[in-house]
Parts: sequence; C-alpha cells; structure tokens
Amino acid sequence: MQALDALTRAARALADGARVSGPAQTEAARQMQICNACRYCEGFCAVFPAMTRRLEFGKADIHFLANLCHDCGACLHACQYAPPHAFAVNVPQAMARVRVQTYTDYAWPPPLGKLYQRNGLTVSLALLLGLALFLFLAMLSQGAPWNVPAGAGFYGIFPHTVLVLLFAPVFLFSTLALGMGVRRFWRDLTPATSGAPLTRSAAVQAADAVLRLKYLDGGHGAGCHNEDDAHTLSRRRLHHCTFYGFLLCFAATSVATLYHYVLGLAAPYDWPSLPKVLGVAGGVSLLVGTAGLGWLNLRRHPLHGDAAQKPMDRGFMALLFFTSASGLALWLCRGTPAMPLVLCLHLAAVMALFATLPYGKFAHGIFRSAALLRHCVEQRQPGKWDAP
Ligand code: SF4
Ligand code: SF4
Repeated sequence: MQALDALTRAARALADGARVSGPAQTEAARQMQICNACRYCEGFCAVFPAMTRRLEFGKADIHFLANLCHDCGACLHACQYAPPHAFAVNVPQAMARVRVQTYTDYAWPPPLGKLYQRNGLTVSLALLLGLALFLFLAMLSQGAPWNVPAGAGFYGIFPHTVLVLLFAPVFLFSTLALGMGVRRFWRDLTPATSGAPLTRSAAVQAADAVLRLKYLDGGHGAGCHNEDDAHTLSRRRLHHCTFYGFLLCFAATSVATLYHYVLGLAAPYDWPSLPKVLGVAGGVSLLVGTAGLGWLNLRRHPLHGDAAQKPMDRGFMALLFFTSASGLALWLCRGTPAMPLVLCLHLAAVMALFATLPYGKFAHGIFRSAALLRHCVEQRQPGKWDAP
C-alpha cells in the first residue's frame, strides 16, 4: 500500500510539472498519464502510439505530441473520462492549448508571435486594410489610375520593379522567420524523439501522411468530427482544397516569374497560358476550401480545440479567402475602371498573408509536418521498454 502511495505521488509530481512548464503543458501531461493507463484510442492517430513509447512527458514530448494531434475530435467523442467525468479528459483541447503556445514559443521574432496569437483576426484585417490604403494612395500620387489605358495591365499602374521591391523583402522576411522557428522546434524535438537521423523511408511515410492528411480520417477512414459525434470527411476535403489551392497559386507565381525572367514574356498572361490555368484552378480551390473551413469553424463543437485560438485561425482563413477572391476578381475585371482598386486590394491581401505566415495556422502546418517526420523516425527505433 505504501509502495502504491509512493508511486502515485511520483506520478503526480511528474504530471504537476517536475519536467514540464506552464499550465497548458502540465494539463496535457496529466491527461497523457491517464491515457497511457487507458490506451483505448491507440488506433486513432499518431499521438497515441507516440505516447505509449513514453512514461514521462517533458516539455519537448508535450510539444511533439501536441503538434502530432490533428484536432480530429475522435478521442474526445470516444472517451469515457471526457467532461463531465471528474477526470475531465479532453485531449484535443489540451493539445490545442499547447500547440498555440508552441507557435509563440518558437516564433521569430517572439513579440510578433505574441501579437498575432492574441489578435490574429484583427491584426490580419488591419494589415490588409492599411496596406490597401497605402497602395491606393501611392497609386493616386502617380496620377488618376482610371486614366490608365485598358491595355496597360497591372504594370501600367505599379511597374514590375516597384512590385519586386515591395514584395521581395516581405517574402524573404517571412521565409527567414519561418525557417528560424522550425529550426528551433526541430532542435528541441530531435533529442526527445530518439535523436536518430532522418531516413528515406521515414521521409516517404511522413510525406504520405502530410499530403493525404491521413490523421483527419478518424483512424477508420470515415472522417473526423465537427459539430457533433457524427463522422464527416468534409474537414479533410476542405483542408485538401485549401492546401492544394495554395500550392497551385504558388506554382502559378513561380511559373510567371520564369516567364518574365527566362522567356522575357511580361504579365498579364491570357487564358489558357500555364500561369493563368494554375492561378485560376488554385484560386477557385482556395476559395472553396477557406469558405468551407470558415463555415465549419463557426459550427465547431465547443469542446473541440481551444476557443482562444479561434481569432488566429479565422485571421488566416480570412486572408487566404481575400487573396483568392481578389485574385479571381482581378482577372474578371481586367480592362474595367474597377481594376486599379481591386489590384490594390489583391496586392494588400497577398502582402498581409505573407507577413503573417510565420505566426499562425501556416506555421502550424510546417510544425505538424516536422512532428510527423520525427514520429516516423522514432517509430523505426526500438522503444525503451521493448524486450532486447
Ligand atoms: S482519450 Fe479517453 S478513451 Fe482515449 S485513451 Fe485517453 S482516457 Fe482512454
Ligand atoms: S483529437 Fe484526433 S488527432 Fe488529436 S489526439 Fe485525439 S484522435 Fe488524435
């Protein structure tokens, strides 16, 4: 009996933060201790197999598990210890609270991460409108934009060099900030996940999980949860629309850059040129994906995820939505008097999107991919408790 008491005290001390820091991590560690004894949800996702390799949950372990969680809700709806049970186990919520902290803990520079975490939606919209106003005033200072000849295109309003000078610093800063954040995250995760080096098979397995969003299938292929305990594949499909839509738009911009510098062909590119086809396909996909995810987000079960994180999620979705909507509108209103104003809005949306990429949901996609990669590496190593 005394031995049992001692074990209980030791377990509680661990869960109370002997090796974890902050209330969010402490709570996630407490819940992982309960799950490790129960293990009912082992087949749902990558979190539970990774959890069973551990008896203690230090800060790096909790950051790792939190970024493996896809917030699918399956373990909440299956759990006999979920609220109102006294154990109050809500793994998706506990993990979401840690996850949002990882974006600020690893953000570079840290004050920008904190600002975006608290006011994501406001910061995104304020940035978008501020930049749009700035571009509109800059455009007015060059003369009346409505007098620009219809055939002059975008470069008749903002010359190509001006656009490069405006966008290159934002893009480079965003890439640097993201790179710094992921480097710090990776450095913390590696020793906590066996320290073994990357292998090709681990990279292929992780890429498959990322590209298919495997862990939004609920572990059985029927999908995850949104507003209730029914399974749905809509979240997974809409994430796919958003993710591949973003990639197609990025590909359109990259191909257009090659057209400009390598082939000497200046924008705008007409249908059915490759940049146009990629851009329109990406824009429509992004529009459908973000509108659908926004709708699901408004109807989300209150126990899923972390309510305090919603402004950040919605800020990112809003910027993606405005970027795709204004890009498509720009195409449709070419040669009309509305084009200069829509161009300002589109450029402002793209710039605000890139400026905030390292601090919100986009960073979460990169951190999650890094966690999945470390998970696939760790899975290939013998567990501490495996028989020799
Ligand atoms: S979430 Fe609940 S049911 Fe699932 S492993 Fe944890 S305690 Fe068990
Ligand atoms: S919410 Fe889904 S992804 Fe997250 S731990 Fe539970 S089952 Fe796994």
